[in-house]
Amino acid sequence: MNTVSPILDTKFDVDKIRQDFPILTEIVHNKPLIYLDNAATSQKPQVVLTALDSYYRHQNANIHRGAHYMAAKSTTDYENSREAIRQFLHARFAEEIIFTRGVTESVNLVANAWGRVNLQSGDEIILSAMEHHSNIVPWQLIAEEKGATIKVIPITDSGELIMEEYEKLLSEKTKIIAIVHASNALGTINPIAEIIRLARQRTNALVFVDGAQAGVHLEIDVQALDCDFYAFSGHKVYAPTGIGALYGKREVLDKMRPYHGGGEMIKEVSFEKTTYNTLPHKFEAGTPNIADGIAFKAALDYVQQIGKATIAHHEHDLLEYATHKLLEIKGLRIIGTATPKVSVISFVVEGVHHSDIGTLLDTQGIAVRTGHHCTQPLMRRLGIAGTTRISFAMYNTRAEVDSTVQALQKSLKMLL
Ligand SMILES: *Cc1c(COP(=O)(O)O)cnc(C)c1O
Repeated sequence: MNTVSPILDTKFDVDKIRQDFPILTEIVHNKPLIYLDNAATSQKPQVVLTALDSYYRHQNANIHRGAHYMAAKSTTDYENSREAIRQFLHARFAEEIIFTRGVTESVNLVANAWGRVNLQSGDEIILSAMEHHSNIVPWQLIAEEKGATIKVIPITDSGELIMEEYEKLLSEKTKIIAIVHASNALGTINPIAEIIRLARQRTNALVFVDGAQAGVHLEIDVQALDCDFYAFSGHKVYAPTGIGALYGKREVLDKMRPYHGGGEMIKEVSFEKTTYNTLPHKFEAGTPNIADGIAFKAALDYVQQIGKATIAHHEHDLLEYATHKLLEIKGLRIIGTATPKVSVISFVVEGVHHSDIGTLLDTQGIAVRTGHHCTQPLMRRLGIAGTTRISFAMYNTRAEVDSTVQALQKSLKMLL
């Protein structure tokens, strides 16, 4: 009576994939590393490490202005990376892709560059109860400055948005809806297309989507979704830290003021008046993160080569398999039981503190995350202080799940 479906996909060879990630052979506390903290950041394949190394070794130069060979080559590679992101998100134009440091900076960019001009006293910003602090605090800062109000879509106990309540919040006062596509704390995949459809029907509001988790697990088509903004972070998609992308609809970005002032974002500067550069440069002041930007493409190419659907299939298998195994542990409760979910499992065990579980798993070489996962309002709503979170990437295996469940049982014996 196995409720878990067998692995059907024979194209996917996880052992071969693992060889592409050098870090996976590390030994931690004398145990082979089992890395299950992928929702916090993913590990990097060799192609990404090589891209970084070879950039600094062979072509380091500032982009967009040099008159020499390496400047031209770096500019081309950096712009090719932008094009790869355009394809990854199925955006219409490459100039709709702005390089940022990640989702956090993308939210701050929109909240400031758009919000400062377009929000007024009495306007409303809609968020959800499961937002990451990154998609709450920048809106609070701008709301406070402009006298706008934040409205929150409530969730059910299983971690799903209550859509009837969302509909009730929509009005002519709604100016922007900023919502997470997939929750980092619960795994819930939100019905983004429906959220946007309702927003268009009832309001003139813009829609900002936090794709930090969805970017790596789901096929993203910003044109089909018809969102105004979509943000994701490179480091959660096997790319380096410090680089991410913000998609914005061209007509929306065109009307926005710049976020940061400086070099590269201008057309002409005088002390009387400065005119701004065209998209996307208007939003990219100063020397950008060139090396990580170029390596971003190596990561996306790697993912595309294996195939997002193939990866998702493998991750979903791990999700089902682990959920099934974990539920056999007495007193363990999974937090976030929505369908569909990305491969994130948060859980609590009665009578045990999550940080004790994390510490004991760590001594056995297993990396998980414990705490509030930057979602304190969500934890408060669910009446818990925090959870232990396991999150899978393409290189995780059923054998790792077995080892983790065993280690967890051993830990609980010591704690209970
Ligand atoms: C990780 C994460 C963020 C923040 O991303 P950064 O890369 O830290 O800027 C925002 N939202 C969600 C859902 C996340 O998982």
